[in-house]
Amino acid sequence: MSRVALVTGGTRGIGAAISMALRNAGYRVAATYAGNDEKARAFHEVTGISVHKWDVSDYEACGKGIAAIKDELGPIEILVNNAGITRDAMFHKMTPQQWHEVVNTNLTGLFNMTHHVWQSMRDRSFGRVVNISSINGQKGQMGQANYSAAKAGDLGFTKALAQEGAAKNITVNAICPGYIGTEMVLAVPEKVLNERIIPQIPVGRLGDPEEIARIVVFLVGDDAGFITGSTISANGGQFVV
Ligand code: NDP
Repeated sequence: MSRVALVTGGTRGIGAAISMALRNAGYRVAATYAGNDEKARAFHEVTGISVHKWDVSDYEACGKGIAAIKDELGPIEILVNNAGITRDAMFHKMTPQQWHEVVNTNLTGLFNMTHHVWQSMRDRSFGRVVNISSINGQKGQMGQANYSAAKAGDLGFTKALAQEGAAKNITVNAICPGYIGTEMVLAVPEKVLNERIIPQIPVGRLGDPEEIARIVVFLVGDDAGFITGSTISANGGQFVV
C-alpha cells in the first residue's frame, strides 16, 4: 500500500499543488483547510482528494482531524505543514490579535499538527515532515514582524526536531519559498507586481506553486533519508543564505 500524506492548507495555492503532486507520485493524500468550503469542495470534485476542515491553531481539533484521516486512509507517514496566513501591519500599528493569529497558525500550528503524528512515526520507524516556511523568515520583512518571527521559528523547530527524529528514520526539512504566483501574491496590483516585486527577483518572474511541490515530492521520498534539518530556498535568486 502506498504511504499516506497529509497536507495542511492543501486545497488551494501552494498546498493544492503539493497535494496534487503527491497524489500524482502515488501517495494517498488528504488535504486540510480552514474555512473556504467553496474552494475545498471544488478542489475535491476536480481531484478526488479527501478534504478536511479544521483550524491548525487548535490542538484538540488537530488530534480529532488526524484520527479521522487515520481511520479513512491509515497512519500518516508524511506531513506537510503548509497552512499559513498573513496579517500585515507596521509594528507600531500591529495589534496583539494580528501577532497571535499569525504565530498561532504559522508556528504553533506546526507543533499542534506534528505532535499528533510524531509518536506513530516513531513507532513505525519512518516519517517525513516538510514545513513550508518563507524567505521572509530568513531575511525579515518590513510590515511582517509577526510573520517573519513565526516563519523563522519554523526553521528552528525543523532543525531541533530533525535531530530528535533522526534515529527513527524520520526526516524534518523546511522549504523557504520566495514570491510564488498564488492568489495571495496575484492579488497585489499589477503595477506593483511589475514595477516593484518582479524586478527584485533575479530570474525575472514569480515562482510556480508546482516548483515548490516538486521539492516536497523529492524530500518525502524513501531515498531522501540523508536530508534532514535542511532548509531549501526557492526564491528565484532573491536571497541567498
Ligand atoms: P493561500 O492563502 O493560497 O492558502 C492557504 C491555505 O492554508 C488555505 O488552504 C487555507 O484554508 C489554509 N489555512 C490558512 N489558515 C489555516 C488554519 N488556521 N488552519 C488550517 N488551514 C489554514 O496560501 P499560499 O499557497 O500562498 O501559501 C502556502 C504557504 O506558503 C503558507 O505557509 C505561506 O506562508 C507560505 N509562503 C507563501 C508564499 C507565496 O508567495 N505565496 C511565499 C513564501 C511562503 P482556506 O482555503 O480555508 O482559507
